[in-house]
Amino acid sequence: MTGHTPGQAPATAGQVWAHVGQPFTPDSWDVLVLGAGRMGTAVTLFLRDLRPEWRVLLVEEGGLPNEDGATILAPGLWTLAGLPEARHAEAQWERAQLEGRFGGAGGQARTLLSLGQDGEEDTGARLARHPELAGVVDPAGAPRAAVHEAFTYRPGALALAAGQAAVRAGADLLLNTRASLIPGGACLERLTVTNTHQIVTHETHEVRAPRVVVALGAAGPHATEHGLGVHTRHARAYRQTPRLNVPTSDTTPVLHAAGLTLRPQSGGVTIIPPVHHRDPHGYAPQGGHLTGVPTGLRRETLEDLVSALEVLPALATDALETGRSLADVPGAWLALPHGDPAGLPWHGEVAPGVHLLLGGPQADTLGLSTAYRLAAQLAGVALPEGWAA
Ligand code: ADP
Repeated sequence: MTGHTPGQAPATAGQVWAHVGQPFTPDSWDVLVLGAGRMGTAVTLFLRDLRPEWRVLLVEEGGLPNEDGATILAPGLWTLAGLPEARHAEAQWERAQLEGRFGGAGGQARTLLSLGQDGEEDTGARLARHPELAGVVDPAGAPRAAVHEAFTYRPGALALAAGQAAVRAGADLLLNTRASLIPGGACLERLTVTNTHQIVTHETHEVRAPRVVVALGAAGPHATEHGLGVHTRHARAYRQTPRLNVPTSDTTPVLHAAGLTLRPQSGGVTIIPPVHHRDPHGYAPQGGHLTGVPTGLRRETLEDLVSALEVLPALATDALETGRSLADVPGAWLALPHGDPAGLPWHGEVAPGVHLLLGGPQADTLGLSTAYRLAAQLAGVALPEGWAA
């Protein structure tokens, strides 16, 4: 084998079990990582980097990446705007990783214009450089623009790249398997689809490991509460990201106006509304009504759009895809670290050896670095220079 340094485990690729036809025998792993969204794939990869002698098993209910996870629907907007100064060095590290190791994750550098009452530039003059935005913004409502740098990318591409790199580096990957926590490990149900399209459990295994990372996204806090009986203050919220069909290109800036973020994407715009509050336990997302007509937008989202109409008149046109039912509007459950809509990605040991890893609304800027923080802590390695303790 080439490139094998004596004293280090050779970097042979890990094993992948994609379907129940591939026999799986529980083995001994040093770390179990549950959930292969961007947080779980990243921590797995970083653990392979920092502790090549540790065996890691990554478990995922769906495929890589899962179509239902928050990762695949996340806006993929890296920006320092609004981020505490103390976390800037770390965010810059994350950006360098995105553009370096992950080959850009389908992304590109852009500017972000924060439109409002102050800011160093004149909104009208600034937007004159982007004729495609002419009908989108009314500069009278937000005359000043603050200019920030941004990087837009595809978090689904990031998770795929991180997961594949982790397997190439030796991590094992068990797909189509639902995990639940048990003391000291996890119960793994390998799922299969019957010829009547029902998802059923094919077989169940119990696997124990000295370290368990719970990276189940919005389902993580509940899984630890349910499986281990530990109480957490974390929560989740359902965020919709409706589409606005106005033409955009690779050079169109990201706009932040009236509380909304408009992210140019696939030749149009994805609208990212703010997260206002945790969704109560048992809340099931449902659409709302606009002048009596059913829409796929939930009431909170509609209210956000309506209150932004003066600044963003395009929202009152049929360029906005409101849909007729929830299924028409993209949306995903997000974890809210500490139940806080502005909560930054977080990790913590919630039971001995069990580490909860949450991405949430700011994972586009600090998700990878938070996964690295956890990997470094588990591996007993110092954080990169300049990072807040
Ligand atoms: P994050 O941004 O934290 O990575 P995601 O929601 O994208 O959040 O990722 C969480 C992943 O965990 C998803 O791919 C989801 O399919 C997976 N997942 C959720 N619950 C389970 C479970 N019980 N067992 C295995 N995987 C799960």
